[in-house]
Amino acid sequence: MNKPCRCLLDGSQPDLAATVRDYVESLPPEERCGEETYRARLRLCVACEALRNGTCALCGCYVEARAAKRNQRCPKTPPLWGRYKAEEQDTGEETEP
Ligand code: SF4
Repeated sequence: MNKPCRCLLDGSQPDLAATVRDYVESLPPEERCGEETYRARLRLCVACEALRNGTCALCGCYVEARAAKRNQRCPKTPPLWGRYKAEEQDTGEETEP
């Protein structure tokens, strides 16, 4: 068995990454966070020890799916990324976790 990597699906499992990407693209715009926030969240996931082959070991989610949802939070205590406020513009900055 391969050692788990701290990487996103697009770097380790391209077919699954495509499926998750399709899922993210199918989300209604009002449920999705902006691109800057999405990228900022994923940068934090890539640096997090809980990331295992694109999955968060704390919640079991594919982080590329979880991070795309506006109202999701990082499950870590304290959270590494917070919840994006729907009424804010996407500046890549989030509310305090
Ligand atoms: S604990 Fe948070 S930052 Fe770490 S992988 Fe899970 S969602 Fe990403």
